[in-house]
Amino acid sequence: MIVSVTMNPSVDISYKLEDFKLNDVNRVSNVMKTAGGKGLNVARVIHLLHSPVVATGILGGTIGSFIENQLNQDGIDHDFLKTDQESRNCIAILHEGNQTEILEAGPQFSRNEGDDFLNHYQQLLEKAEVVTISGSLPKGLDASIYCEMIRLAETKQIPVILDCSGGVLKDVLQFQEARPFAIKPNIDELNQLLDTKITGEDQLKKALEHPLFARIQWLVVSMGAQGAFVKHNREHFLVKIPRINVVNPVGSGDSVVAGLAVSILQKKSREDLMKTAMTAGVLNTMESQTGFVNSEKFDQIFNEIEICKV
Ligand code: ADP
Repeated sequence: MIVSVTMNPSVDISYKLEDFKLNDVNRVSNVMKTAGGKGLNVARVIHLLHSPVVATGILGGTIGSFIENQLNQDGIDHDFLKTDQESRNCIAILHEGNQTEILEAGPQFSRNEGDDFLNHYQQLLEKAEVVTISGSLPKGLDASIYCEMIRLAETKQIPVILDCSGGVLKDVLQFQEARPFAIKPNIDELNQLLDTKITGEDQLKKALEHPLFARIQWLVVSMGAQGAFVKHNREHFLVKIPRINVVNPVGSGDSVVAGLAVSILQKKSREDLMKTAMTAGVLNTMESQTGFVNSEKFDQIFNEIEICKV
């Protein structure tokens, strides 16, 4: 089975208001509360693609219970380390075409709690065949916990797909002792990582030669409506996707990670892995719910994906 890690989960609350009144009472009848965090999207999409998955991370308080209840309702297995600190809410206020966000910092963990999680994770590794690690870290934990998670998986020859950004991604990629099996930056994250402004395939090829990417088997650079540029070992591919009607692209990158994990679990061929990952991303953009795919449309989109060796 696949283990999907979310170290910084949240309940995402969206309030839709006709107009937002500052320093006044705003009453809201249109409230949506969902279990959020990139790794939870990954777990949901893996589940919707009919592969076995366990969601893990650190959860606590009534918000933690809400997240677990939602996963139960969706039929997604989970096994989180429990903390007595409350997990966080992330609030998005949608008003007059704007989005005002209020993001709680969430719990702060000590090194000991980080170690407790690593012990918990090691037990899950006993049954894991693939691991996905997604998103930011809570306060008190740094990139070294991701490095250790990758190292522990590597000792058991379990491939890890890493999807994080900014300083944490850079720090993990500088760790040479153990390497993720695959990473999936989007093109903006790649530019931020390398401090570049890449245009075109030749620059992409050159960028992926950077020592930060040494010994990572799959480099999947997602490019929104342009599909993806992929480096597998020493070969490069452009993965082209069909033009579709986009409803909500949020969570598409997480869906690509889910598609990669499912393909690795099922030992799909190289071509099918790239097509499955892109299909999952495209399917997510066609739905209003974040991190959601309709598997009935899978074959239709899959057959429209084109792979060109470049
Ligand atoms: P992220 O969500 O991490 O920013 P992208 O925006 O690159 O990642 O999207 C991931 C994948 O989702 C793309 O590679 C593609 O398969 C699909 N996707 C995203 N946006 C679109 C779009 N506008 N049209 C079609 N597919 C899309």
